[in-house]
Amino acid sequence: MNTRREFLQKISGSAFGLTVLPTIASASCANLPGEVNEGRVLNVAILGLGGYATRVAAAMVNCKRAKLTGLISGTPEKIKAWQAKYNIPDKNCYNYENYDAIKNNPDIDAVYVITPNALHKEEVIRVAAAGKHAISEKPMTISVKDGEEMIEACKKANVKLLVGYRMHFEPHTLEIIRMRNAGEFGKITFFQGLSGFVIGDTKQWRLNPKLSGGGSMMDIGIYSVNGSRYMVGEDPIWVNAVETKNDPVKFVQGIDETIQFQMGFPSGAVASCLSTYSMNWLDRFFLDGLNGFAELHPATGYDPTTGLTHKGPLNLPNTIHQAVQMDEMAAIIFDGKKPIVPVDGEEALKDLKVIEGIYKSAQSGKTVNLQL
Ligand code: NAD
Repeated sequence: MNTRREFLQKISGSAFGLTVLPTIASASCANLPGEVNEGRVLNVAILGLGGYATRVAAAMVNCKRAKLTGLISGTPEKIKAWQAKYNIPDKNCYNYENYDAIKNNPDIDAVYVITPNALHKEEVIRVAAAGKHAISEKPMTISVKDGEEMIEACKKANVKLLVGYRMHFEPHTLEIIRMRNAGEFGKITFFQGLSGFVIGDTKQWRLNPKLSGGGSMMDIGIYSVNGSRYMVGEDPIWVNAVETKNDPVKFVQGIDETIQFQMGFPSGAVASCLSTYSMNWLDRFFLDGLNGFAELHPATGYDPTTGLTHKGPLNLPNTIHQAVQMDEMAAIIFDGKKPIVPVDGEEALKDLKVIEGIYKSAQSGKTVNLQL
């Protein structure tokens, strides 16, 4: 048994799974027993040392094939604290003015960009120009046009562009995709995605359209957009959307508060989704087929994912999403591994095309056709 998938398939149907799973779930381990984990280690610099970067760095301590080796930040105090915590030498630390010099640093293979959405484009393009692989946080950027430029720049520089879609490596999610592909749900008819939370601090960049590029849709609704595609297994061909704004002071022009959107897929399947910055407890996916169903709840949050299908609960381990993601990204970059659900720029661009369609529909009140 040498793949995560084989391991998961085996334990999900065995008594063994029931007894060992709690141990696997609680162990700080990105790699499941029996998984081959050899190959070149991906040396990563993180650009932007904020909230999510803190989580990624802590997770990477558990990686077998990815290592934090560099830091890029505009705040010298943060660099110092992170250097001490992760044992990063001075020669691998940069600020936003001088990080093009990573070009000559063999200790860095890739840069993980974890800054406000609107900054990803320029930063990824600079990383590519320095000849390093780029990993961008979601959303890849704030417009389709920008996304296309990022893809082009990385192609031209002959480096990989990957996007931090951590759920694409999550065991419950992958098991539902496996069941769907095996026909266990029958013809897929419907997907429901609920993504939202009540946003706090009104001063944060997420509520500044220049830095965020949008509101809840760009930040959290993107999970329902992306999830609809990997759960249904198709790309939508139309979308219509309605926006509700109850607090125009907190949610200024260009920042959507709540958007409900519907999508249609080539097979005739439909989706109904909600994205919001004003409601709590919304992190749930539901997939309906003629012969069965699947539910994930939470579907994309950091808390342990739980999955249920018409066959019963999914007894699968919970992993540290970011650790698995980074190990898998090392294999994608160095071994050409093809993930079950892609995490490249083209994949991320599709989400931006849907989001642009959603905004267009919400503004015009009309259904928008999509060509992904
Ligand atoms: P954050 O505010 O906690 O951190 C942002 C970092 O960017 C800070 O260190 C800040 O100093 C730096 N920065 C650089 N230039 C800046 C500028 N001009 N204005 C403001 N900050 C600037 O935000 P975060 O939650 O870490 O989000 C960063 C990115 O990560 C976003 O794209 C977000 O969508 C993404 N994210 C992804 C996940 C996930 O689960 N994949 C979770 C959270 C955030």
